[in-house]
Amino acid sequence: MATCCIAGCGPAGAILGLLLARSGVDVVVLEKHGDFLRDFRGDTIHPSTLDILDDLGLAERFLALPHSRVERFTLRTTAGETLSFGFEGLAAKFPFVAFVPQWDFLNFVTAEARRYPTFALRMNADVVGLIEEDGRVCGVRYRTETGEGSLRAGLTVGADGRSSRTREAAALPQTATSPPMDVLWFRLPRNANDPGDAQGIVGPGHFVALFDRGKYWQIAYLISKGGLDAVRVAGLQEFQASVASLVPMLADRVGELTNWDQIKLLTVRSDRLTRWYRPGYLAIGDAAHAMSPVGGVGINVAIQDAVAAANVLWRPLLNGPVTTADLAAVQRRREVPVRVTQSLQAFMQRQLLVPALAHGRPPRISPVARAALAAPGLRTLLPSLLGFGLFRPHVESPARLAAAP
Ligand SMILES: Cc1cc2nc3c(=O)[nH]c(=O)nc-3n(C[C@H](O)[C@H](O)[C@H](O)COP(=O)(O)OP(=O)(O)OC[C@H]3O[C@@H](n4cnc5c(N)ncnc54)[C@H](O)[C@@H]3O)c2cc1C
Repeated sequence: MATCCIAGCGPAGAILGLLLARSGVDVVVLEKHGDFLRDFRGDTIHPSTLDILDDLGLAERFLALPHSRVERFTLRTTAGETLSFGFEGLAAKFPFVAFVPQWDFLNFVTAEARRYPTFALRMNADVVGLIEEDGRVCGVRYRTETGEGSLRAGLTVGADGRSSRTREAAALPQTATSPPMDVLWFRLPRNANDPGDAQGIVGPGHFVALFDRGKYWQIAYLISKGGLDAVRVAGLQEFQASVASLVPMLADRVGELTNWDQIKLLTVRSDRLTRWYRPGYLAIGDAAHAMSPVGGVGINVAIQDAVAAANVLWRPLLNGPVTTADLAAVQRRREVPVRVTQSLQAFMQRQLLVPALAHGRPPRISPVARAALAAPGLRTLLPSLLGFGLFRPHVESPARLAAAP
């Protein structure tokens, strides 16, 4: 029996596990994979997450991990128009995005959590269902290499991502929009004399974003929703030529894309639960709301959920029982910020990305997008909403003060 069981050790589950363990709550995290090695996931650690790590006294050690920093993002069109925006106008201790591979982040957070005796992480434990009694969720059933097991818990948290099985089992109501695009992620070598900034390039019928990852460029190439088959039918050479025409400095390297396996599809989704909980169960992170990749906010929003959940729930978890009013309080803290961020992403999609994907139009940055990103008075609004979200959650539980044992 655990006080709290968390399904999924992504950013939301790992941070919630750490915060609860630091507050003295007995917590078990179940992760279906045997390690955290997954490529092209949320690698963008925003100022809000760095602040949270700072609350825990961990920011300095975290930033000692190999990483690259992005302070500004420059939009360019192939016709020569540019627009640049960044975090420097914000009152922020960490006015940049740190790019850290997600597996390094998760290894760092779970290594920290393991120092607390009330934390347990079981890898290779695939949660297959919820245990329910008298309308209340009382734990999970899971499968390991050696067979099936069950874990009873006072509270079960579904942090098992955008295809959450626990959310499905809890049958919570959901609302979804279908952003009109998907993303192809790939990497190409970066030369020492390449410019070092993060860039978005609008070309005729295309949008591509480049992120400096030290030895390589991480590249997002937008396609119309469901358009991968057409891109593949056109062929790899055509794809290479398109990348080279959008980013001429990569023309000498696009030939390194020799196989479609090097190019990963992110099916863009934007959805959210209209109720995040039922008795004994709470969904957080992507399990509660899959975010569009615009702004690279997904990991940070998931972590903010974990902070809000720990702030509200550590006391009822220690003193028991956790009521549906407690769970509703978590949703209340997070729902509006999530909705505002999703609306902002939809606005950027409409104003910038969808027009960029429309064929036959000259590449341009729409005047509305330009005003939203550069007009005096608005210049810091978008970076602030992307960097911190609507509210800036801080760690309020005893986790903030806890010294490592
Ligand atoms: C290709 C891709 C690129 C992305 N790029 C970015 C980006 O640049 N920036 C950004 O901020 N966000 C990005 N995201 C989104 C970001 O990764 C997520 O928003 C973020 O990781 C959500 O965290 P989470 O903890 O809620 O869920 P997840 O990170 O999905 O973690 C869920 C965890 O639960 C585990 N799990 C799932 N099912 C079970 C089960 N049944 N039993 C046990 N464990 C289970 C999974 O293995 C996983 O470890 C990207 C997502 C994808 C798919």
